[in-house]
Amino acid sequence: MLYSQFGLTTLKEIPAEAELLSHQLMLRAGLIRRLSSGLFTWMPLGLRVLRKVEAIVREEMNRAGALELLMPAVQPAELWQESGRWEEYGPLLLRMSDRAGREFCFGPTHEEVITDIARRELRSYKQLPLNWYQVQTKFRDEIRPRFGVMRAREFIMKDAYSFDIDAAGLDVSYQKMHAAYTRIFERLELKFRVVDADSGEIGGSRSQEFHVLADSGEDAIAYSDADNYAANVETAATFPARGERPAATAEMQKVSTPGARTMADLCKFLSVDVEKTLKTLIVEGTEGPIALILRGDHELNTVKAQKMPGVASPLTMSDHATIRSVTGCEPGFAGPIGIEIPVYFDHATANMADFVIGANEADMHYTGVNFGRDIPNSETVDLRNVVAGDPAPGGSGTLSIARGIEVGHIFQLGTKYSKTFGATVLNKEGKKQALEMGCYGIGITRIVAASIEQNHDDNGIIWPDPLTPFDVVLIPINMHRSGDLRTAAEALYQELTEAGLDVLFDDRNARPGVQFADAELIGIPHRLVISDRGLAAGELEYRHRRDTESRNLKREEALALLTGSGVK
Ligand code: ATP
Ligand code: MG
Repeated sequence: MLYSQFGLTTLKEIPAEAELLSHQLMLRAGLIRRLSSGLFTWMPLGLRVLRKVEAIVREEMNRAGALELLMPAVQPAELWQESGRWEEYGPLLLRMSDRAGREFCFGPTHEEVITDIARRELRSYKQLPLNWYQVQTKFRDEIRPRFGVMRAREFIMKDAYSFDIDAAGLDVSYQKMHAAYTRIFERLELKFRVVDADSGEIGGSRSQEFHVLADSGEDAIAYSDADNYAANVETAATFPARGERPAATAEMQKVSTPGARTMADLCKFLSVDVEKTLKTLIVEGTEGPIALILRGDHELNTVKAQKMPGVASPLTMSDHATIRSVTGCEPGFAGPIGIEIPVYFDHATANMADFVIGANEADMHYTGVNFGRDIPNSETVDLRNVVAGDPAPGGSGTLSIARGIEVGHIFQLGTKYSKTFGATVLNKEGKKQALEMGCYGIGITRIVAASIEQNHDDNGIIWPDPLTPFDVVLIPINMHRSGDLRTAAEALYQELTEAGLDVLFDDRNARPGVQFADAELIGIPHRLVISDRGLAAGELEYRHRRDTESRNLKREEALALLTGSGVK
């Protein structure tokens, strides 16, 4: 490709509307352009990358035995009414009507349509297992479209749906997709983790998310240093404290802590570490308020708390009047001593000694408090978010916390949709049986942004070979002043192209500084510079986008390096 004919406009300035680095770089390098909130055009340079992602995803889906089809993006309301999601999906669903007033939506996902196809097409267990997939445009009217194509409204998803005769079959189909996804993200050269997204409830369906690790990720992930365990911080379990509780060394004292309503105020006032404090949260219960007690620095996990017997779901903090009636004082000084409501202690409190708690009196706290002596020993429960250093569930190892971008999601649906839609097949005994379904999504457009989050430096993008829009950028220096150089550069361009490489030939009449800066910004991994001086010495200058120095190579050496480098 000749640069002069590629219509590429790069931007020097950081676009003000983009906060995320990948979004900035995608705009600056001319991969995408914004049309409207959450709507983007993929420019030719960006589309090259997108097509490469799609190709890898297709290859691995086909290898796993899945069959590609293509469903309509626009879906009739009746199907969504049948599943109950016309109401349930809420404002995320873009609804529209045709000239006859019939209602439709632009598909945010395709469970309804695929289940409708399955109930029409599938008759017998002999047609199973089956996995249908598509690569297709979705629309979700996200409440906050942001970060460019990372959280867009219109985006491209690969969605697959498996059909089996029984739960054991579903397990096999699910594991196949797990393996295919692992290969896909490895081939895309992404650093990723498979995160358990299980609801954890008995009978809950199995579900895992594939997260690309990046500081800018929207999700916090806890992972073990000892095994493959990884879970969303919101769902990761904590465990009863290990080891012995230290012996009490202090006497319990009631101390005045004027105005110390927050943990920070309290710790500063008493000069104690926050790890030596307990906080008491009063929440609504099904039969009156309940106290939840956690270590001062720990964060309450709403989902875990609302599952505790007697705690109201969704979790609701008690209002000031209720807190006053329970504790007898203003909010900010609640504690477990002397209150008459049920109390749950978090696991992490069990091994604490000589700690500080609220005294249920305005401006007062107790110090030197100990279980067994001042507060009865009690069972502890899991109420909080995990933190780095917590024990991993495997029994050995500890947890670290990283941030992740969800790029894939695999989910066992079971018979949820097939029962509602009457999607059945005849089993071996000739009886009708509801199909066991799984669904599997990959965010194709999001992957491009996620890859940039992991592969960039101050000068721009650094594409991994499997994703790069061009394999090589060929930069002649001041070609417009030298006929010999032009002849040599054009010959080299042709030779590289004939060797099967995708070359961006920077034939612009531009200063070398501009050529280099653009090549770095758009992130082509391999750069060849050809100059009059090099020509005289029979050499080219090669540099990988990750290198800090260039190397002079003979023309043959350079060709051998590029054609043998695994670029193609
Ligand atoms: P999120 O939690 O990020 O909103 P989700 O869990 O709602 O995503 P799924 O229904 O699991 O998304 O969709 C499958 C995949 O589609 C996701 O793993 C993600 O990679 C991608 N995806 C979902 N929403 C968007 C979006 N608004 N923009 C780009 N990609 C998206
Ligand atoms: Mg998801």
